[in-house]
Amino acid sequence: MDSKLTIYNTLSRTKEEFVPYNPPHVGLYVCGPTVYGDAHLGHARPAITFDLLFRYLTHLGYKVRYVRNITDVGHLENDADEGEDKISKKARLEQLEPMEVAHYYTERYRHAMERLGVLSPSIEPHASGHIIEQIELIRQIFEQGYAYESNGSVYFDVERYNAKYHYGKLSGRVLDEMLACTRDLDGQSDKRSPCDFALWKKASPEHIMRWPSPWSEGFPGWHLECSAMSTKYLGERFDIHGGGMDLMFPHHECEIAQSTAASGHGAAHYWMHNNMITINGQKMGKSLGNFITLDELFTGSHKLLEQPYSPMTIRFFILQAHYRSTLDFSNEALQAAEKGLDRLMKGVATLDKVKPSDRSTVDVADLARRCAEAMNDDLNSPIVISVLFDWVRTINQLYEGQQQITAADLDELKRQVRTFVFDVLGLRDERVAGETDRVTPLVNMLLDVRQQAKANKDWATSDKIRDELTAIGIRVKDRKDGVDWEIE
Ligand code: ZN
Repeated sequence: MDSKLTIYNTLSRTKEEFVPYNPPHVGLYVCGPTVYGDAHLGHARPAITFDLLFRYLTHLGYKVRYVRNITDVGHLENDADEGEDKISKKARLEQLEPMEVAHYYTERYRHAMERLGVLSPSIEPHASGHIIEQIELIRQIFEQGYAYESNGSVYFDVERYNAKYHYGKLSGRVLDEMLACTRDLDGQSDKRSPCDFALWKKASPEHIMRWPSPWSEGFPGWHLECSAMSTKYLGERFDIHGGGMDLMFPHHECEIAQSTAASGHGAAHYWMHNNMITINGQKMGKSLGNFITLDELFTGSHKLLEQPYSPMTIRFFILQAHYRSTLDFSNEALQAAEKGLDRLMKGVATLDKVKPSDRSTVDVADLARRCAEAMNDDLNSPIVISVLFDWVRTINQLYEGQQQITAADLDELKRQVRTFVFDVLGLRDERVAGETDRVTPLVNMLLDVRQQAKANKDWATSDKIRDELTAIGIRVKDRKDGVDWEIE
């Protein structure tokens, strides 16, 4: 565990050596999706960034408890007819339970993440399943004097908190400045100050998702779930809290205020934030017409897309930039990523064809050393990729006989290449069988040939196709009106 991993801590604004509270255990909390719409490009970056961290910490030998929440409270209103969210509208029109809508999008999110090679977290708690914990946390904040009730809702008293602690320490804001530039309350609000935020909201009559509480029937404020669930599963102090930069204020600032108010100290030691994705230089947004869902990317069905982009192309594209840099999406950039990934995977495949010799002219230890150095430097994945490309050139030279390698060195090289390409970067060779995108048309073509053979009573050919497909794990099932197949 003598890793010398350094990570940029948003809280201290410096790169710090990573020292966990309780090694080899590491607690990692990342804000997950709000499940009332399809996962889009903006979801892919935090998911892949913290998947890289999760994978690398695991690679270093840490036992990571990775908690990523599902926000399924307070967003599904009966009157949320914005015109874009078809399923919410469907929920209302077809009288679905909001939980059916939440479940539907949770499943779709998980499926999209799986395709992107994002590993499942250790725990994926739902906000709706932790109402009791959230109410309990509000009680603690009340006990410490940092909450007040107003017409059935409960608010966090930011000014009172700021008198003792610093509200704004994560985002580098100062309360007086925030107050000066915030418009006055319109008289409609139950809040004492415009900077106060809700811990509990009394539900309006049309709000479907509601729970009983000591203050009113209502629902918890959004910031509360992350404080309550991270404490429940990782303890009052844990190692790393992550999320997108867009969540730094107010969400993460409020999380810090809540846990500090309740326990006297902040919960997470390191705060990590990934930068945003822009599209052709613009911020992504529904109103700008550049809002691209992951499904649209995978199928190419958005007007801004010149072609479909495979999940691994998206992953590679994201890993080619450091997580704290901005990343601009464009067809050219995605096409370049597609070519780069192809070159890398071909290099990995060529390694299997290299013949060992009785001496080595290459320094195999170089790959692991440089990749580890780059990862230890605040997860510098673009450098890891450039080291791997250096080695693709070397692998080609080994294959061409311009360089030599011993059998033992070759084994070590294969092990290191696979470790960094597949385990740490989490890439997958989409060209090999098992990726249904490419297998499906091939299998369908073979089954067409087989149907033709059967029609011609050429049983030998028909059986040969079925048997050979079975041999590679593709089971063919004849039906009366056609044929089904599945990968076993
Ligand atoms: Zn959160």
